[in-house]
Amino acid sequence: MKRLTSKQEYENYIIIIGCGRLGANLANTLSDGGGNVLIIDKNKDSFRKLSPSFGGLSIIGDATDIDVMQEAQIGNASAVIAVTNNDNANIMVAQIAREIFHIKRVIARLYDPEREYVYHEFGIETICPAVLSAKEVDKILSQDDAIKGEEQ
Ligand code: AMP
Repeated sequence: MKRLTSKQEYENYIIIIGCGRLGANLANTLSDGGGNVLIIDKNKDSFRKLSPSFGGLSIIGDATDIDVMQEAQIGNASAVIAVTNNDNANIMVAQIAREIFHIKRVIARLYDPEREYVYHEFGIETICPAVLSAKEVDKILSQDDAIKGEEQ
């Protein structure tokens, strides 16, 4: 693996866990925006989702394994984003990032909104696709209602 070496490369060093649909999209966007991105996935085929222009680094490994996180030099990260498809893996990685490595910005995807309070107790920010989708649907429906109201 190519290593981040100079201090400058650690600026805006973002670690993304899970190179699925969301993780790969984020990695492409943040890398295109000038971030130093490292992405981890336990399945090497997942990296095919990265765009050809992706300029970051990748590690194949299970992110719940602390050796993998050390290989990623997690201690130097300015943000860790856990977006695997497994809530338990996301919370474990997020806790390691917060509690052991004291990373300031830790964001985790959470499928089960009822578990959100556990994350917040540890100072972990969450994104919950079910909650975000419900809000978006509600927003679209209220726009429709507003249009209908104007037409009448
Ligand atoms: P998606 O459901 O499309 O967002 O994909 C989730 C990604 O997370 C997949 O590519 C999985 O291989 C990956 N993944 C799941 N668990 C882990 C883990 N413990 N460590 C690293 N990657 C994982």
